[in-house]
Amino acid sequence: MHVSAIIAAGGRGARFGTAGPKQFLALCGKPILRHSVEALAGSSRVSELVVALPADMVADPPTYLAAAGKPTVVVEGGARRQDSVARAFARVASRADVVIIHDAARPFVSGELIERTIDAAVAYGAAIAALPATDTVKRGNANRVIVGTLPRGEVFLAQTPQAFRTSVLRDALALATGHAEATDEAMLAEQAGHPVTLVDGDPRNIKITTPEDLEMAEALMAQRGGGAGLRIGNGYDLHRLVAGRPLILGGVTIPFEKGLLGHSDADAVCHALTDAILGAACAGDIGRHFPDTDPAWKDANSIAMLAHAAGIVREAGYNVVNVDVVVIAERPKLLPHVEAIRGNVARAIGIAPGQVSVKGKTNEGVGATGGGEAVAVHAVALIAHV
Ligand code: MG
Repeated sequence: MHVSAIIAAGGRGARFGTAGPKQFLALCGKPILRHSVEALAGSSRVSELVVALPADMVADPPTYLAAAGKPTVVVEGGARRQDSVARAFARVASRADVVIIHDAARPFVSGELIERTIDAAVAYGAAIAALPATDTVKRGNANRVIVGTLPRGEVFLAQTPQAFRTSVLRDALALATGHAEATDEAMLAEQAGHPVTLVDGDPRNIKITTPEDLEMAEALMAQRGGGAGLRIGNGYDLHRLVAGRPLILGGVTIPFEKGLLGHSDADAVCHALTDAILGAACAGDIGRHFPDTDPAWKDANSIAMLAHAAGIVREAGYNVVNVDVVVIAERPKLLPHVEAIRGNVARAIGIAPGQVSVKGKTNEGVGATGGGEAVAVHAVALIAHV
């Protein structure tokens, strides 16, 4: 089956209040249009893309369009949305069975939503992604006085993608010329007498219309790890095992005949994690923030140091997404203490235990750790810009 995707990016974005069209603003370092193009091009169901651009960009289109990985055609957008879509439709491959139309300003469209909409168009002729209204919907008059309350169960909020069998879209767009302004293609299909099926939309498939939407989108994109807001850090620590010291790992005192030697409590789990978290934010290391020469940190509780490091990183605008720790010790067994360590570390960083992984390993008797002379710890931390 040949599915052509039309991306409507011809609008001037008058509602956004910036000089340029909003679909070219950066979201986590990438133009919003590029996110949308990559989502459609990334669907195994989509065969080709036709992108409607503002007139002044057609001669020199952004290079990421050609790099999308699917045959991509650029057309000049029209004055109204339906004009842009009609121009794009004219360039769709003649063998296209289904055309899926998407707004450039919805960069979060998922592969599942694209497939769901295509499948419904194949089955029923026309389908749009939509969300049931969760707020009560009022009709108001020009004086902002309510003139009615719509039955909420009958109200659906249209999103894109919207997909059509090619013949259905042809009928719909034939109405477009005479029609004043259709805010979506489904409206034209309805008026052409074709039933349009509602498929479950996605609340995260937001449309970026205002600067506030863009702020929300930044946070959502960083959380999903889809943007440049994600960073990783690595930490390592080793302490000698000696008699006459408590063995403290991740804030848990583990019964053992030896403990770790160090200036502070020598909690190698906290030290490796502190370096991993600071490293992810390029915020220095444990030696810079907690020097051994500083009496304030002598015999310090390393859980407090870890919490302090998490605070530094939060201050720099990041949240910790997850951490993963490997403790290399021949003895004692770590497993009975893993849950307590995860809980302490999670509390110190300000995340949930589900975001903290702690694993124990022996060194097979090899080297200093294998010989029981030392305990070593490796840690990685992922942080996301908020
Ligand atoms: Mg240390």
